Amino acid sequence: MIVIDGSTGEGGGQILRSALGLSLVSGKPFQIRNIRANRKKPGLMRQHLTAVQAAAEIGTCKIDGAIIGSTELFFTPDKIKAGNYHFSIGTAGSCTLVFQAILPALLMTDMSSEVVLEGGTHNPMAPPFDFLETTFLPLLGQMGIKIHATLERPGFFPAGGGKLRIAVTPAKELKPFDVCAFSKTSLSAKAVCAQLPGHIAKRELNVIAKKLHLADADLDQIQLEDYGPGNILTIMVRSEQLTETFTGFGQKNRSAEKVASQTVREVTNYLSNRAPVGPYLADQLLIPMALVGSGSFVTGKPTEHTLTNIEVIQKFLEVTFNLKQLDSKRWEIRVQK
Ligand code: ATP
Repeated sequence: MIVIDGSTGEGGGQILRSALGLSLVSGKPFQIRNIRANRKKPGLMRQHLTAVQAAAEIGTCKIDGAIIGSTELFFTPDKIKAGNYHFSIGTAGSCTLVFQAILPALLMTDMSSEVVLEGGTHNPMAPPFDFLETTFLPLLGQMGIKIHATLERPGFFPAGGGKLRIAVTPAKELKPFDVCAFSKTSLSAKAVCAQLPGHIAKRELNVIAKKLHLADADLDQIQLEDYGPGNILTIMVRSEQLTETFTGFGQKNRSAEKVASQTVREVTNYLSNRAPVGPYLADQLLIPMALVGSGSFVTGKPTEHTLTNIEVIQKFLEVTFNLKQLDSKRWEIRVQK
């Protein structure tokens, strides 16, 4: 049995989610201790528990320790089944993070699946729906996987109440994948206010237009009255092979100008690195690439999430990751069998 210490590296929920997905595809059971030991409230929260239950259902697994607050879990997978699934987190916990845990299994079956997820769709510290749709899923498409995600109802943190529907058709053969060149880019931005005054989005877009020199045609202001409250700011950076997505989350006691300036800083860092894969995308591409067994990308300085995820992947799959520093700002990450 593989034993994982959940306090190593970044010590958060990703170690658990990666272990769940990798256990399902490799058929290897695991035990994890010290779950989320580096977080303020360690142990399984609703989002993590839903991920465990979802993975267990898809993989007909035996589980022990799957209760709220648990810091230890035993997980024994059996056969993974494609099908129609519905998982509800019951809080504003992130739907896209639950999806992270089950995606590897859905990619490795021989039939299509459809998953409905209910909870948060736009949470700080998690991939927002727009990142999934615009950045992550199109890259899986380049590997030959057809995935279509629909936002049926947005769920903004902290209220939640969102709903995603994701259809996955696995590839007959996964294609290796290299995202190494940084080509000419174009930028656009979208600001959404849900049950909040529209001047918030307007002020955010004003800051972005000024700092990133965007024209009116590149700016989109959206007002929603049926959902919320919430305020999300998304800056998309399009280049030849991918679109990177950077997100700002409006918060009480934080001005629209501050939210926009922070998001602009993330974009300017990304542009100055001249590395096509941004920091969040980097840790999320590792498992799909490891399933293919070959591929590479160029990113900025590897984050703790990326380094920790590499360690977890190497426990389950017979792959090796090589990290090479190309210059002061760019690293190449390559995987091989
Ligand atoms: P905890 O550590 O409290 O358990 P968690 O379960 O929410 O938190 P982490 O382990 O911190 O999760 O993992 C967060 C994941 O969300 C990572 O894969 C990271 O790349 C992704 N992520 C975080 N912020 C963004 C963002 N703005 N855009 C895209 N992806 C994001």
